[in-house]
Amino acid sequence: MPEARQDKTYIAENTDAAWKGIAMSKLFHGIHAFQKKIFPKQRNHFEKLAHGQNPSTLFITCSDSRIVPELLTQSEPGELFVLRNAGNLVPPFGDVSGGEAATIEYAVAVLKVEQIVVCGHSHCGAITGLMRPDTLQGLPAVEQWLQHASKVRQEILEKVDERQPDCDMLMAAIKCNALVQLGHLRTYPAVAEAIERGTLSLHAWYYRFETGEVLVYDESTDKFIPVSIETAMPSEAIVA
Ligand SMILES: [Zn+2]
Repeated sequence: MPEARQDKTYIAENTDAAWKGIAMSKLFHGIHAFQKKIFPKQRNHFEKLAHGQNPSTLFITCSDSRIVPELLTQSEPGELFVLRNAGNLVPPFGDVSGGEAATIEYAVAVLKVEQIVVCGHSHCGAITGLMRPDTLQGLPAVEQWLQHASKVRQEILEKVDERQPDCDMLMAAIKCNALVQLGHLRTYPAVAEAIERGTLSLHAWYYRFETGEVLVYDESTDKFIPVSIETAMPSEAIVA
C-alpha cells in the first residue's frame, strides 16, 4: 500500500529482506561453482566416502566464521570430524547430555579417531565474554554455556598480571581455555580408555587467524610453540 511504503519501518524491513536475498544468492552461487568446478575433480573421492568415513582427527573449534579447519589444515573431505560451538568448549562428562558428548563419544568409540585437537583462536568473542561478563547482558544462554570455562577466568585473574607491558590477557585466556577443555575431554570414559590404550592423543592449539600462525601446546616446556615441520612430529606434540 502507498501509505505503508512511506513508513520507515516498512522500508527498513524490506531493505533487510533484500540484503538477506543477496546473502542467500551468494550461497547458491557458491553451490553452483562447487558443483561445476570442484565436485567433478573429486567425484571419485566423494563416491568412495559414500561407503563410510574414517577421519583421523576430532577437531574441536569455535563457531567463529573466521575459522575454517579444513582450509587451515589443508584437509580433504572425510579427514576431520568437526565439533564446533561458541568458545570450543567441552562440557565435562555427565554435566549435560548434549551434542558435544554424543559427538565426542561417537568420534572416539565408533570412528576411533587417533587424535583430538582443541583449537582456540585470536579475538574469540566467547572468551572475551567470559573474561568480561558485563558484555553478556541479555545473552543468558551464552552466559550459562560459558560456565564450562569458568575455571579459565579464575585461573587467569589469579595468575596473569595485567600491569605487565606485554600482557595479553585475552590470548592467555584462550590458550588456558584450550587446556581446560582437554581436561574435560579426559573425563569421558571413552577418551580415558583410548588414551590408556595408547590409541588417542589430545592436543591444544592457538590459531592467530590474522597472521595464519598456529601455536601448539608443548607439555615439556608448558608453552605454546609455533608449528613447524619438526613440531608436527607426533612424538613432540602429544600431551595426553
Ligand atoms: Zn571464538
